[in-house]
Amino acid sequence: MSNVQTLKERAVSAIETQRDELIKISSAIHSQPELAFQEHKAAALLCDALAARGFTVERGVGGLATAFRAETAGNGAGPTVAFVAEYDALPDIGHACGHNIIGTAAIAAGIGVQAVADHLPGRIVVIGSPAEEGGGGKIILLEQGVFQGVDAAMMVHPSSYTLVNRGSLASMRLSIEFTGKASHAAAAPEDGVNALEAVILTFNNVNALRLHLKADARVHGIITHGGVAVNIIPDYAAALFSIRAARQSYAQAVLERVVECAQAAGLATGAQPRYEVKPGYAEMLPNGVLAQLYAENLRMIGVEVRDPRVNERMGSTDFGNVSQALPGIHPYIAIASEDTAGHSVEFREASNSPAGHKGLINAAKALAMTAIDLLAQPETMASAKREFAAARGLTAP
Ligand SMILES: [Zn+2]
Ligand SMILES: [Zn+2]
Repeated sequence: MSNVQTLKERAVSAIETQRDELIKISSAIHSQPELAFQEHKAAALLCDALAARGFTVERGVGGLATAFRAETAGNGAGPTVAFVAEYDALPDIGHACGHNIIGTAAIAAGIGVQAVADHLPGRIVVIGSPAEEGGGGKIILLEQGVFQGVDAAMMVHPSSYTLVNRGSLASMRLSIEFTGKASHAAAAPEDGVNALEAVILTFNNVNALRLHLKADARVHGIITHGGVAVNIIPDYAAALFSIRAARQSYAQAVLERVVECAQAAGLATGAQPRYEVKPGYAEMLPNGVLAQLYAENLRMIGVEVRDPRVNERMGSTDFGNVSQALPGIHPYIAIASEDTAGHSVEFREASNSPAGHKGLINAAKALAMTAIDLLAQPETMASAKREFAAARGLTAP
C-alpha cells in the first residue's frame, strides 16, 4: 500500500511540475473553439504534447481525422487503463461545456502516470474522442475497435460542483421535415399547404403529451427551417428534437409518441412528414469501484466530493456508450459556483479561469491516482470488472 502511495505522490508531483504548460494547452483550446469533427487544432495540441513526452501517438484513429490514441507502456504485461479526452466546442457560444478542460485533464493524467510507469505493469492510453456535442465520436471509436483491449476508461467533466457518482440520460435525436405547397399567403392561401403550421402543431402536440410522460423524460426541440418569405405559404419546414430518458427503452417509447405528434400535425395540415432518427447515446453505467477510488483520491488531495442531490438533473454523453461496453467513470469537478448552468456564457468563462485551471489539475491528479490503484493492485481491477459484469447483467434488456 505504501508503495502505491509513493507512486501516487510522484505522479501528482509530475502533474504539478507541468502545471503551467498544461494550463497553456487548455487555454489555447479554449481560445480557438472548434466544432464536432473539426477539432484539428485541439487534437494537434494534445497529440503534440503527448508525443513530446514520449507517448506513441496514432492520429486519425477509427477513421476520424480528429481522433487519436496515445500510449505509454509500463514494465510488463498487465491491464490497460484509458483516459478519455474530449475537445469539441458548441456552436456560437464556444467552450461553454469546458471540453478544453476534459482534453487537457486526460493528457495530464497520462503524463502523471507515465512518470511512474516503470514501476507499474500494463499500459496507459489516452483516447482522443471528437464530437461529444451531438456527433457521438465515442460510439464510432467503439465500433471501430479503438477501445479494444481497454480494461477501464475514465474521464472528468467540469461542472458547478464535484460529484463522482452521477449517471446520464439515454438520448436520441429525431429530425422531422414537412413538405407542403407554396402559394401567395394573402392572395391564394387556400391553394397552399402550410409546412410551418405542421411544425408548430408538432410542438403543441408534444406539449400536450408532456404531462403524461414519466418524470425522467426530456423532449426539447428547435425549428431549423420555418419558411423563406412572409408572403409565401411555407412549403418546407423542419424541426430537430432531442429525446431523452433514464433508460434507452423508455427514450425509444417517447420517441414513438413524438413521431405520432408529428403524424397528427401532418393530418391536420395536409403537410407530408418525413423522419430521421439519429442513433443516440446510451445511459451511463457508472462503475462503483472506480467511482469510490476516484472519490477517495480526490479527498486525498483535499477536494471535497458531494453526493448526488435528490432528483439530480443530468444530461447525456457518448461516454454512456463507453460505460456500457467496459468499466468506466465520468465524474464531475467543480470549476464554477453552484448556480452556474452548463452551456452558458458564465460556464464558458469559468472554463478558462483560475478555478477552471485548478479543477483541471485536481481532476487530472485524481485520475492518475486512480489508474495507479488499478494497475498496481490486480484485485482492485478484478473487482471493478466483477461489478461491471453484474451491473450489465442487471441492466441488460
Ligand atoms: Zn455539453
Ligand atoms: Zn460536455
